[in-house]
Amino acid sequence: MQGKLQQVYRVSKELGQNSLLSGSFQLSKLARLCSLILSEEADLKVTFEFSTDVYQHPSIKGHLDTELLVECQRCLEPMVHPIDLDFHLLIDATEEDVQSFQIDTVYTDEGYLDVFEVIEDELILALPLISMHEDSTCNKNWQPDSDEEMVVEKVNPFSVLEALKSK
Ligand SMILES: [Zn+2]
Repeated sequence: MQGKLQQVYRVSKELGQNSLLSGSFQLSKLARLCSLILSEEADLKVTFEFSTDVYQHPSIKGHLDTELLVECQRCLEPMVHPIDLDFHLLIDATEEDVQSFQIDTVYTDEGYLDVFEVIEDELILALPLISMHEDSTCNKNWQPDSDEEMVVEKVNPFSVLEALKSK
């Protein structure tokens, strides 16, 4: 069964219907993501379903397909970061469930799930920490030696999310 995309779903109702939902919308609807990328113009294609087929626990799983325009850290010119990713998240799971199933959880607001927020979080997590063109000569002034010595400080993506949410 296919339905039209909406932003918020009542999870218990969707679980009963086992609906497969799909559609597309502009990235400009996702303000937090757009503050991190160079263009809001791209279309996002999304497919998802609510199910209990994993551990009998409510979950949302789906697929995201889009192109994010980010800045190359080597030449500071725009570059396309393709997104083609599957996601699977438990819904309103306890910390114990998250630990034992090794699947992250999202939380509803009294049974209602904001799917756009879930999708936006997934896209933000999928952004590369450091974006660079595949062509390592995209900046002629770039010195490969310093590239190797550069120490990349790993940032926990979840702390990035938290920082964004608290804005
Ligand atoms: Zn570049």
